[in-house]
Amino acid sequence: MKMKPMKNLITGGAGFIGSHLAERLLENGEKVTVIDNLSTGSIKNIEHLKRDPKFSYHIDTIMNRNTMRRLIKESDMVYHLAAAVGVQYIIDNPLESIKTNVEGTEIVLELAHSLGNKKVVVASTSEIYGKDRPGKRIFKEDDDRVLGATTISRWSYSCTKALDEFLAFAYWREKHLPVVIARFFNTCGSRQTGRYGMVVPRFIKQALSGKPITIYGDGKQSRCFTDVRDTVRALVLLSKNRSAVGEVFNIGNPYNKVTINALAGRIKHMCASGSMIVRIPYEKAFSGGFEDMRHREPDIKKLRSLTGFNPKIKMDEMLYTMIDDIGKGQR
Ligand code: UDP
Repeated sequence: MKMKPMKNLITGGAGFIGSHLAERLLENGEKVTVIDNLSTGSIKNIEHLKRDPKFSYHIDTIMNRNTMRRLIKESDMVYHLAAAVGVQYIIDNPLESIKTNVEGTEIVLELAHSLGNKKVVVASTSEIYGKDRPGKRIFKEDDDRVLGATTISRWSYSCTKALDEFLAFAYWREKHLPVVIARFFNTCGSRQTGRYGMVVPRFIKQALSGKPITIYGDGKQSRCFTDVRDTVRALVLLSKNRSAVGEVFNIGNPYNKVTINALAGRIKHMCASGSMIVRIPYEKAFSGGFEDMRHREPDIKKLRSLTGFNPKIKMDEMLYTMIDDIGKGQR
């Protein structure tokens, strides 16, 4: 007997990661419904999916309980990716960010529970780990969190996502709602915009348009960048694994580690760009108080040992894909 295709709901599915996830699930033969309010997502991200009969979308907010009730009722599984994202966006929209990330997640979890304990994969972030501490570069799921003062907006994001994780664990422990929490480290790829702060698409856009490439601080800070195709592969592996339920996992690529100085040089070279590389002090780049992390690297042993996942896409391949994508958009 032929199995019925899985019905997935992706909140934030018109976003950069959500649209790649939708693509992957459709390729697997599954059904996908997207809800997105287009606050940071874009209809362009899902344009190519609209002709697939297994795909449908709703432009609405996850705060709309009636819509959410209907959509969750029709689904077997929820990927909850809708959130306020991007350092710049969070700093510019602190109130909306807190409301979306906390109330929105509560609505998703509560309805997933009351409508038959539908599995929910909750997207979280490496921001959870917080600020620098001496000698610490690599972060593991059960590491302590160290945060700065409440006057620094950046930390509100870390707190809202931590509350999402607490809520998800509470629904699992008290109500047996099957949840899986995925902490994304810096994720990059086609369709990502630099508008909300993300460094790689910003540098590429600057390099392609001959504008100065803007390094914040001294540029010696480092990050590990994961190609979104690896990210969604890990996410799907986790969502299909029974032993992942009630657990939190880092998703990242520890091999693609680079300083921001080296990243700027690499992108300039790959774009054959004449852009100047400039350094901007943090106080000038951000108003209202800001703290940056020096280094942040994912420990992915937990993910690897459960699912066998290993990231495949190297830095240059990721950058070429993005240069091509952003270049097309500028032409
Ligand atoms: N960054 C930069 N120039 C930019 C945007 C970001 O030098 O135009 C730096 C930023 O200060 C941080 C790193 O690049 O050290 C990664 O920033 P992003 O916002 O992409 O991610 P996150 O800070 O969340 O790791």
